[in-house]
Amino acid sequence: MTSFAIVIDKTETTLVRVGYDYLARMGLLIQKELPHRAYVLITDHNVLELYKKEIQTLLTDLSPKGELIALPPGEEQKQIFPVTVIINRLVELGVDRETLIIALGGGVVGDIAGFVAAIYMRGLSLLHIPTTLTAQTDSSLGGKNALDLPGGKNMVGTIRQPQAVFIDLKFLSSLPAAEWQNGLAEVAKYGLLEGGEYFSLLESQSENLRERRLEKLEAVIAGACRIKKNYVEIDEQDRHTRRFLNLGHTLGHALEAASGYAVSHGQAVALGLRGELALSRRLLHLPEAQEEKAQAFLDSLGLPRKASFPLDRKAIVACLKMDKKRESGQVRFILLKNIGQPFLAAGIPEAAILSVIEEIQ
Ligand code: ADP
Ligand code: ZN
Repeated sequence: MTSFAIVIDKTETTLVRVGYDYLARMGLLIQKELPHRAYVLITDHNVLELYKKEIQTLLTDLSPKGELIALPPGEEQKQIFPVTVIINRLVELGVDRETLIIALGGGVVGDIAGFVAAIYMRGLSLLHIPTTLTAQTDSSLGGKNALDLPGGKNMVGTIRQPQAVFIDLKFLSSLPAAEWQNGLAEVAKYGLLEGGEYFSLLESQSENLRERRLEKLEAVIAGACRIKKNYVEIDEQDRHTRRFLNLGHTLGHALEAASGYAVSHGQAVALGLRGELALSRRLLHLPEAQEEKAQAFLDSLGLPRKASFPLDRKAIVACLKMDKKRESGQVRFILLKNIGQPFLAAGIPEAAILSVIEEIQ
């Protein structure tokens, strides 16, 4: 088991634990390390079906026994109306500020429970138990939560740190292959951002990652969490360096949006990483040998080189321009000077963007 703290300031500290196969002890661990007057666990029907027995044990190991709220799975729940239904349920259950909210699920459950915990009675304590690779390495850490509006994804939300994040790699054994791939794209992002030892670790573990040998992957996941910790501690509010975590995501989000969200986030980020590497090289920031090394690394994780769907270049560029991160009318990309050396670049010529879209088609 690996554990460390994410420390924003004295009042906002997150305990992070990473281990393999400790779900059976999770209830007792919560009772010991995060004792509260009451507990409400939020999950979705898929996760509940897969882990019914373990979740029941967790709830009964708590004192008083925890309450359960199970949501229909899917992004459609990440909206204002379904969230008000949950809030009304909390009122019915008599939930007060001494209650711990436990988010057990993927990124969607984490976003919803995180949002509810942030706003209900101006804030309840929150524990994340993330169950997807994306949530374990990315979305459960850093305190961001968001809901979608009809006008766009992740348009409302808060940044508020959870009290703890308990990561059990064993959950990942039941993850569908496509979900695993989604998470691999995020892990690859950390490798390219961080370089050095973490990049070498991922290179050496590429087969274990492809084959999903979970008992071998604690260092990989804990390493990703530590990298995220470093960014979040320095820039919790996402104004400066935390933006480097958007590597692969500027182009990735545009690919997702231009496809009407038909393509998965992971595929879009994988292609976004490919395109942004090519852009870094094309604009003479990244040496060619480094780009080749980075592309070969993505290959070794089994991430796609080319889109398996048609790319509409005009629509993608239009989405890039709409990106909420654009400033003074310019699209900003996180590019690499080297593996492990990201920087924020603006004023990128449209012709260069169009030609890298060509490279991933
Ligand atoms: P993400 O973390 O990628 O944002 P979601 O919260 O949308 O993921 O979850 C993706 C899908 O995977 C959902 O249908 C969810 O119910 C399901 N899921 C979550 N965790 C697991 C797991 N450990 N095993 C199998 N399916 C899971
Ligand atoms: Zn992402």
